[in-house]
Amino acid sequence: MERLSADYYVYPGATARALRRYEAFARAPGRRPLYPQDAECSCRGCSFDDVRHARDVLAEVLRHLPPRARAELGRRVAVLDAGYLRRTLPDPFADQRQWESGLWWHRRLAGGREGA
Ligand SMILES: [Zn+2]
Repeated sequence: MERLSADYYVYPGATARALRRYEAFARAPGRRPLYPQDAECSCRGCSFDDVRHARDVLAEVLRHLPPRARAELGRRVAVLDAGYLRRTLPDPFADQRQWESGLWWHRRLAGGREGA
């Protein structure tokens, strides 16, 4: 699926990288809120600095996977989604602030440094 993708951000290895990135965030040690941060560069590599990009990639991959593989990856992502929701705060102004505010993982407070 990665090989066939027309999406610039989906390439061989991108799913594994997105999963690792999302997992590191969603399972970060501690209980304090985390704030996704913008990536400073929009190339395929640097984009992963923004954890929301990792979730974007996973969403894109899930959309194109065959049913069985989709269910499998979907279960892993769902577990991490729960962690992501626990560690981030809702952004009441997401509609004004986020260009992708239709995606729930973009509707969380962001900015500054992730851990701060
Ligand atoms: Zn870059």
